[in-house]
Amino acid sequence: MTKFYLTTAIDYSNGDPHLGHALEKVGADCIARYRRLRGDQVHFLMGMDEHSQSVIQAAARANVTPRAWVDRMATTFADYWRRLECSNDDWIRTTEPRHVRGVVALLERIQRLRPGDLYVADYEGLYCTGCEEFKSPAQIANGHCIEHPTLELIPTRERNHFFRLSAYSQRLLTLIASAEFRVEPAIRRNEVVRLLEDGLQDVSISRQRLPWGIPFPGDSEQTVYVWFDALINYLSATGFPDPGYERLWPADLHVVGKGITRFHCVIWPAMLLAADLALPRLVWAHGYVQWEGAKMSKTAGTPVSVGAAIERFGADALRYFLLREVGFENDGNFTWERFDARYAADLADTFGNLASRSLSMVHRYRGGVVPNGSEDAPLARAGLETIRSYGPAMDAYELQQGAALVIELATRANRYVEETAPWKLAKAKRDAELDQVLGDLVRTVALLAVMSAPFIPAKAEELWASLGTGRSLASVRLGDLAGMRVAGWTVAKPPPLFPKPDAD
Ligand SMILES: [Zn+2]
Repeated sequence: MTKFYLTTAIDYSNGDPHLGHALEKVGADCIARYRRLRGDQVHFLMGMDEHSQSVIQAAARANVTPRAWVDRMATTFADYWRRLECSNDDWIRTTEPRHVRGVVALLERIQRLRPGDLYVADYEGLYCTGCEEFKSPAQIANGHCIEHPTLELIPTRERNHFFRLSAYSQRLLTLIASAEFRVEPAIRRNEVVRLLEDGLQDVSISRQRLPWGIPFPGDSEQTVYVWFDALINYLSATGFPDPGYERLWPADLHVVGKGITRFHCVIWPAMLLAADLALPRLVWAHGYVQWEGAKMSKTAGTPVSVGAAIERFGADALRYFLLREVGFENDGNFTWERFDARYAADLADTFGNLASRSLSMVHRYRGGVVPNGSEDAPLARAGLETIRSYGPAMDAYELQQGAALVIELATRANRYVEETAPWKLAKAKRDAELDQVLGDLVRTVALLAVMSAPFIPAKAEELWASLGTGRSLASVRLGDLAGMRVAGWTVAKPPPLFPKPDAD
């Protein structure tokens, strides 16, 4: 079995999750579920970034200790991700002892292997509390951080530990060029390459006397810089430095937002190179969820809450909408109008409609028992073509395309119902033809249940259960689909999968 270790960015514990967070988690979860469907041995990590300076501020505002605050935030985030059906195998919090051990071990390893890569110096610059980092002139527009135009940059001077990032530009360029270290999509890779070609500056990796954070090994005056600390979660979650961590490491995929590629595609791999550890195979940087063209974030405000978006039509509908309409590559818009339109057109009228009409015709004409349909029928061929396109699209993380293929096949099958008019075949007693059509339809519905499961896991499960297949959806592999036999299944007559709100 192929090991597949994937991670999402860990979230700042300074406010409720917004739809931008939701897109990232749902996208990563869709990939995790697809990989399990492929038969991979998946390990899916999510977690919380709990040492940021904004935690101290948020805790003070709420009049609680930082510890009480992060505990509360961790519960809130974990609850949202459960509601969105995230199937993560692990959940790491950077305040956990296993993470603190990993951070200390990595720093000590760099100190041992490349003592010149860590040094102490004074630092002076403009600090963004939103990013928790010093900003270079290229990252500042109109006197503000590009990512946080509403926050003030704070002039800061202090003595810090530094990491010799400048030594790693050339090696990283070579590793990216040879695809030993991959950054996708290409637009993000090109940005990272430009950054590396411009040359890197060393980065501060500690802060003076911060009351909340990991003490810098060997220097009680300093705390490990929150970003340096946070990045290491991907490694500390594998059990590093204990023997056996290589069972998971290196990560096969880091899913992150496009705003933090510098950390994940430059600083993080350089840290790993300094420690002689393997690099993650791929960083996928998704775009932002926008509301009328503006990024949704804690700082910019959240016009749509994750809770309200889940309550509209359920978690599956939101997952589908984020991945199909907003997409996992570029920025995309969330509007209620588009959400309602997609729900009605794709899920209710196409996917849900096909499922309920197919199963009710099997009941009406064949007493609920699926007859045999041959495999060279037009719909069976369309199903095989979809299977052949779906795998490569999902392998390439083209989730939007994967979702589109599912709905296209459902559209094709609905058209097949109109073309073959099973009610006329029944009336004319053309039994063999009717068997053929019903068998084809049920096989297509079964394929759709399997291929839609990474996107709409609960609805896919519900649909699969109504097919009477005698096996669990979780036991089905992508490779089983082409030869799926449906004759003899006794199907149920379920309520609509995606009811229209006005039909209640
Ligand atoms: Zn910023």
